[in-house]
Amino acid sequence: MMKRRQFLNSVAALASAGLLPNGVAWAQSTANFGLPTLPSERFRRVRLGDIEIIALYDGATRLPLHERYVTNAPFADVKALATSLGLSTDYVELTFTGFLVVAGSRRILLDTGLGEVGTPRETTGHLLDSLRQAGFAPGDIDTVVITHFHADHISGLRNRSGDFVYPNAKVWVSDREYTYWMSDEQMKASPDRKWAFEQVRRVFTGMPESMLRRYTPGQEIAPGVFSIPAYGHTPGHTIYEVRSGGRTFHYIGDMINVPAFFARHPEWMVASDIDPEASLAERQKFLARVAKTTDLVGGFHFPFPAIGHLRPLEQGFEFVPLA
Ligand SMILES: [Zn+2]
Repeated sequence: MMKRRQFLNSVAALASAGLLPNGVAWAQSTANFGLPTLPSERFRRVRLGDIEIIALYDGATRLPLHERYVTNAPFADVKALATSLGLSTDYVELTFTGFLVVAGSRRILLDTGLGEVGTPRETTGHLLDSLRQAGFAPGDIDTVVITHFHADHISGLRNRSGDFVYPNAKVWVSDREYTYWMSDEQMKASPDRKWAFEQVRRVFTGMPESMLRRYTPGQEIAPGVFSIPAYGHTPGHTIYEVRSGGRTFHYIGDMINVPAFFARHPEWMVASDIDPEASLAERQKFLARVAKTTDLVGGFHFPFPAIGHLRPLEQGFEFVPLA
């Protein structure tokens, strides 16, 4: 069990990482939700034409289900939905899963997990282990693609000693995202996101120019891997489409937070969105496009294996993970 102090520290870190609502007196929360149970399976291979997609489990954490987790719906409705789905009304179980694209000789990693900065340490930051279990070494990765700069997506790029974890990789980041988070002016203007800005600096300051690829989303960045701007969750949030053999996998990063809430109610807004209106518009555009297809969809905070289908319901969508 987590000690109370450790719990409060983890809550503070998550709050400033943008994973929790800002401006809430989290210190008043004394509940201890216990550690999430990790799945025994840490990676999942999925064939997509000539390409293989491998879901890589990073871990899970439990966040208070506070009345501001969903910012624009009555708390009673949120709790009623949780109850109807058999979920806790006290906490949200937030899972983290990145993806590896194996295409010919290419090894392309989509997001990197919490690395060594997550809390609780026991149940976060396992993506590298999952990658090894799937049969790959960090040096095998030639490309890392980042959806956005929240700590749960970038921290695995660099360990606490300052070493870059994927030494042979080019790291592709949206130029807009990089510019926002590396701006000292933006950092000063958002004191409640200070920790998140610090994590970005910890990861990217001193990254060799030969490693960093700042680019404008809307282009093919590796064979069969297409970037699509989906700004809103963060200023440069970018989603990806992997296409092969007439099939498509959409990796949508944080465009939909936990699907139990935000796929069923795409109109609901999560506290961690920096521009919730823009995020909502992108989410609706995406869902309208994908609803008519049998495309595979993956989300970083979807329950493991975090890849599957979005099945239209009378109200919103249900995420159906691959069996
Ligand atoms: Zn995230």
